[in-house]
Amino acid sequence: MLYHSLENRYKNLISFEDAVLKGLSPDGSLYIPVSIPKLDTKFIHKLKSYDIDTIAMSIISPYIGKSIPEEVIYRIIHNTLNFSFPLKKIHDHIHVLELFHGPTLAFKDLGAQFMAECLSFFSRKKEKNVTVLVATSGDTGGAVAKGFHKKTGIEVIILYPYNGISCLQKKQITSLGDNILALEIHGNFDDCQNMVKKAFLDKEIQKKYILTTANSINISRWLPQMFYYFLAYRQIKIENPIELIFSVPSGNFGNICAGMMAEKMGLPIKFFIASTNINDTIPRFLKSEKYHPYSVKKTISNAMDIANPSNFSRIWSFLYKKNMYQLRKKLCSYQFTDEETLSIIKTVWKKYKYILDPHGAIGYLGLTQYLQETKNNSSKTAIFLETAHPIKFADHIPPFLRKKIIIPNKLKLFLETKHKIKKTSLSNNFNIFKSWLLERK
Ligand SMILES: *Cc1c(COP(=O)(O)O)cnc(C)c1O
Repeated sequence: MLYHSLENRYKNLISFEDAVLKGLSPDGSLYIPVSIPKLDTKFIHKLKSYDIDTIAMSIISPYIGKSIPEEVIYRIIHNTLNFSFPLKKIHDHIHVLELFHGPTLAFKDLGAQFMAECLSFFSRKKEKNVTVLVATSGDTGGAVAKGFHKKTGIEVIILYPYNGISCLQKKQITSLGDNILALEIHGNFDDCQNMVKKAFLDKEIQKKYILTTANSINISRWLPQMFYYFLAYRQIKIENPIELIFSVPSGNFGNICAGMMAEKMGLPIKFFIASTNINDTIPRFLKSEKYHPYSVKKTISNAMDIANPSNFSRIWSFLYKKNMYQLRKKLCSYQFTDEETLSIIKTVWKKYKYILDPHGAIGYLGLTQYLQETKNNSSKTAIFLETAHPIKFADHIPPFLRKKIIIPNKLKLFLETKHKIKKTSLSNNFNIFKSWLLERK
């Protein structure tokens, strides 16, 4: 498979390896594959009879092509899909797909681990280490730190705002050490992101470093998220479900875009709902056809506090060729407030004894709103994605419920262990960051 930038269809076709190492195209747009491979319908019908590794292999190997030998792809998949993705019934035909059983209890673990394994393979041939530079508002940092820890040939530099992330997230980023460097920036998330962007454009830094990114614009983090939708389908009890609907809590729109790719590959998904918080650029765009981001507003589902979602351009320009009529047949989008989010967390607990995190709660809200509007509920299989364990956002869960969250053992162990904090503090001045980068090489 070859890739090109969204803006530049016919020039500069590059391999999977180059697209992973570059992250973002030099013209500033995202990489996309030249085509979407179709899976055999027989394979889809028989999905339940295959094991998870075989399914993942069939989905991803056409996208990797000759960049990685087959037996290595197989090993990467095996090392990545090493936790469970259970589909649970909540009530009626509403199901939750739990994506938070990975090492840092967030759905980003899968993509981060997959990317780390790919980069580690590509860095073998390089003379110097590959440096992953990443700004985080919380979840990405932890998942990337864990996924890349001790991977040979790679070092990771994580920039986080000094008072902008939770204690647990800070501990996840600063406790590992080795090839994981934590930079505490005296500024906010936007400062961190701007410093990273500037570093990519800086000639002196580029001379000393092989730099790449680790957010969902990188194809090796984005594409493996297709697995979720196939693995959900595999667990559905009904034979050949035809009215399958997914609601995806969306921020940067990488996850839902992967689901829409899975549908284009042949997975029979009838409809998608992009559920957002009040950062509602996409719900407004689908209504008015005007793309007009406002500035970011803080919410309790803070991993989705994004006003200009990078991956939406992959849906709009690549998957749907800017055809609003076709897009609306497959996608709708709703936005919800913090009050609605908190209220549904309480209701779902009271009625069904299930604890939602604020992000999953928005997914649930989107799903129920859609089902209400379309009325015909009976034949549908409706799934919302739960993207983080509620303990990760316990501060935003109503206090009476907080005590009821069962803390997973791996987290208990992590919290009980005393860790040495390994971090460097810097001001939000780019030149200071730049000198720090240049002096350590
Ligand atoms: C990153 C994140 C999201 C948003 O996913 P996108 O792919 O950016 O749309 C939702 N929930 C949680 C918990 C996240 O960490």
